[in-house]
Amino acid sequence: MTVKPEITELIEKLAVNRNLSDEELSVLIESEEATEPLGTAADKVRRRVYGDAVYLRGLIEMTNYCRNNCYYCGIRRGNTDAVRYRLTEEEIMECCREGYALGFRTFVLQGGEDLYFTDERMCKIVSDIRKTYPDVAITLSLGEKSRESYQKLFDAGANRYLLRHETADNDHYHKIHPAELSPENRKRCLFDLKEIGYQVGSGFMVGSPFQTTANLVADLRFLQQLDPDMIGIGPFIPHEKTPFADKKQGELELVLRMVSILRLMFPHALLPATTALGTIHPQGREMGLKAGANVVMPNLSPVSVRKLYDLYENKICTGEESAQCRGCLEMRVTNAGYHIVTDIGNVKRSEK
Ligand code: SAH
Repeated sequence: MTVKPEITELIEKLAVNRNLSDEELSVLIESEEATEPLGTAADKVRRRVYGDAVYLRGLIEMTNYCRNNCYYCGIRRGNTDAVRYRLTEEEIMECCREGYALGFRTFVLQGGEDLYFTDERMCKIVSDIRKTYPDVAITLSLGEKSRESYQKLFDAGANRYLLRHETADNDHYHKIHPAELSPENRKRCLFDLKEIGYQVGSGFMVGSPFQTTANLVADLRFLQQLDPDMIGIGPFIPHEKTPFADKKQGELELVLRMVSILRLMFPHALLPATTALGTIHPQGREMGLKAGANVVMPNLSPVSVRKLYDLYENKICTGEESAQCRGCLEMRVTNAGYHIVTDIGNVKRSEK
């Protein structure tokens, strides 16, 4: 595709200034011809900061019980057809054991907002992992909690927290969530987590229903304010048992442009090539890496529950054992021209 000089100029400007006006960002977000040159520019920056390293995070999907009713999510409480499960502490420890042996030095415990996992139960799990594996990063992704709860979990040994803001625009937030959830509280959580001392990951869905280009620009502006260590984005994918069953999925190329724009605006950020991206295209994750992503998150959950952590349709990697999943990703990363490193994979802030 021929690229207009204005587009090339905007990309160069973004690479140098790490910022553009709202209007200029909108042009890049909407321009199909920008996908490839944005990817080239983003890859250059990623190689300058992180070389060809791709960091591994082992994902343990510990519960699909959820008290929330987000319109897009397959494990929302309103989906009474969902078969619910929660892992026992022993099962979680077994996932960690297997993961550690496979070279994982980051465990991500993710789940719905499950009231069974009280602070007491969660702190016990976190401190047991911490005692057994002093050299790993323990990442939690368990939704919105009080500042006190986040503090207790941090004191128990957790050091990272993933909580996507989902959309930074208040009106858009209310179009994809029920009234009982508020964008103010979600943002409050993110700033609390940061103040407590967690390495924080945020992010948003691309192509979620009713999303506009202006909403995506607002997401970038919010991230500039928060300045997170990790930014996870992926396409919205419909799930048939949700109010958004008939909505269209997010576009591959738009996700890739957003990954590249994030890399140029946040050179140090840890950007995952997400499972959702791998779900909408067989080479989606490889494309994500080439567009600037530098993290992959293979699944460490027991195979028996993988299909049940059903956030959206046709989710990949639900049939393999953890070792196979890791092997498959290693091959994909190598084929894309990068290499997996098994260290803890902290953010490289000094390279700012
Ligand atoms: N309860 C936790 C974990 C949520 S699941 C929390 O609130 O953070 C992790 C992410 O999956 C969500 O943040 C959301 O961005 C994404 N997700 C949920 N449903 C999705 C869908 N239908 N398509 C794509 N991504 C989805």
